[in-house]
Amino acid sequence: MLTETRVYIARYLCPDGHCLMTASGEGDAEEPDVGEIDQLVEASLNKLIEDGAVTPWCGICGAARETWHIDLTRTQYRTIAEAGPHLIELARQNVWGWQIPGGHG
Ligand SMILES: [Zn+2]
Repeated sequence: MLTETRVYIARYLCPDGHCLMTASGEGDAEEPDVGEIDQLVEASLNKLIEDGAVTPWCGICGAARETWHIDLTRTQYRTIAEAGPHLIELARQNVWGWQIPGGHG
C-alpha cells in the first residue's frame, strides 16, 4: 500500500517573522521527515545565498542568517500538482524581505 503524502510548505523566517524564503514539497502525511525537509530547504537557501540571489540577512530588519528558523506547515493537498494554484497564490501574497532594496539599513 502506498504511503499517503501531504504537501508541506517550509518558510524561512527571521526572529521578527519576516519571510526570507519559501519552499514546498511532498512528505509523509502522518510523520514527515522534518530533519530531511530542513536539510533540503537549508541546502536551497545556501545555494541562493551563494548565487547572490538572497542576502544572508533579513531585508526588512537586518537579522543575520544564523538567527533564521524554519516554519513547517502541512497543507490539505496530497501532491504538488494539486497544490499548485494554492502555492502560486501564497507566493503572490508573500512578503519577500530580501526583495526590498535597501531595507536592511
Ligand atoms: Zn526580519
